[in-house]
Amino acid sequence: MKEEYGLTQDQIDIQMMTRDFIRKELPWERIKECDEKSETPMDVVKKAAEMGLTSITLPESIGGAGMGEVTNSLVLEELAYQDVGFATVIGACGLAYMPIKIVGTEAQKEYYGKFIVDGSLAAFALTEADAGSDVSAGRTTAVLDGDEWVINGTKAFITNGGLADIYTVFAVTDPGNGTHSMSCFYVERSCPGISIGSHENKLGIRLSNTTEVIFENVRVPKDHMVGKQGDGFKIAMMTFDRTRPAGVGAACCGAMRSCIDKCIEYSSQRITFGQPILQNQAIQFKIADMEIKYEAARALTYKVAGMIDDGVIDSALASAAKAFSSEAALEVVNEAVQIHGGYGYSKEYPVEIIMRNTKIGTLFEGTNEVQRMVITKNLLKASGII
Ligand SMILES: Cc1cc2nc3c(=O)[nH]c(=O)nc-3n(C[C@H](O)[C@H](O)[C@H](O)COP(=O)(O)OP(=O)(O)OC[C@H]3O[C@@H](n4cnc5c(N)ncnc54)[C@H](O)[C@@H]3O)c2cc1C
Repeated sequence: MKEEYGLTQDQIDIQMMTRDFIRKELPWERIKECDEKSETPMDVVKKAAEMGLTSITLPESIGGAGMGEVTNSLVLEELAYQDVGFATVIGACGLAYMPIKIVGTEAQKEYYGKFIVDGSLAAFALTEADAGSDVSAGRTTAVLDGDEWVINGTKAFITNGGLADIYTVFAVTDPGNGTHSMSCFYVERSCPGISIGSHENKLGIRLSNTTEVIFENVRVPKDHMVGKQGDGFKIAMMTFDRTRPAGVGAACCGAMRSCIDKCIEYSSQRITFGQPILQNQAIQFKIADMEIKYEAARALTYKVAGMIDDGVIDSALASAAKAFSSEAALEVVNEAVQIHGGYGYSKEYPVEIIMRNTKIGTLFEGTNEVQRMVITKNLLKASGII
């Protein structure tokens, strides 16, 4: 492993601690077993939470690590090196907490944060069956009844949906008001009326839990609204501006680095025509191209993560980091399978899982088409065209 640039000793320590932890606690055989069963290794999740990996970005005052998105990226890159699905479970806690971190009151930060610090998982519940890219088409409603909001609706594709003890939920409070119709709430799993719907049987990231979450007359106190009424859409977008680099960009970097290491190892051992395939320049060039893509994706991801830590929010750059990293990762894993030949297509070798896992990067936290919409909109705004 090369020397890192610009990291503090604390960050390097967290990076190394995460690397040692995940490689020891989540070995390949366990990943394979959980992938086959589509099961989250909760014993490893529990240990990760005890180590503070789910609360890296939570304030120190409530027991979090008080670190920023660069450190979060380091952690998620290391976890994703081993398994992108596992990284998704852990990263979803930071995603769910982000709205509270950005616009929540001090009391909300503490109340919600305690769940995560104490080892519970959290989930971010925005998507619905007919509202993915078009977030504002959501039909889940929240209606004020006395001092309580009453939530009804079904959220779809929710990471940690069946495992979380607390949800960040977006629901329509002001119907017909376009991007001002939704508000953001937090809802405890223990509230009567919450049930878990179908568990997605997915192509990849099968170590992560993805479910429907159903809300039937779920009553939450008025003070569980996060931010202002009608600001839900804005809060969701502000969240993604801050989570796309670490949650997707850095995780895809982890998958790429894993591919590079596995290809060097495999190609130095696989003999064809009397010599290791690594001796062929065609293979060396593939590995070089993988490294170029990894380093480029990493440079952009960590640059944007650093800007976020410095308080500079740039939606277009966050989208660029997410889109570039996830597309680079697909190219890298494609070549990794190619280098492994027929064995790369077999479930006996990890690159097969990495290939299935990596596709998710272009889909969640907004598809890459949505990222391009964000990037172009920002360019056109800067040019004064819109
Ligand atoms: C494993 C997994 C985990 C997830 N975790 C979460 C989670 O924790 N919380 C959560 O809220 N959501 C989660 N999601 C949902 C995810 O964010 C959505 O699936 C995603 O935003 C896409 O929405 P959709 O599936 O409805 O696709 P659609 O919006 O139906 O899009 C279908 C296709 O059309 C394209 N498209 C749509 N509109 C346009 C347009 N205007 N211009 C060009 N192309 C367009 C899209 O890019 C895509 O290629 C998860 C999804 C998956 C698969």
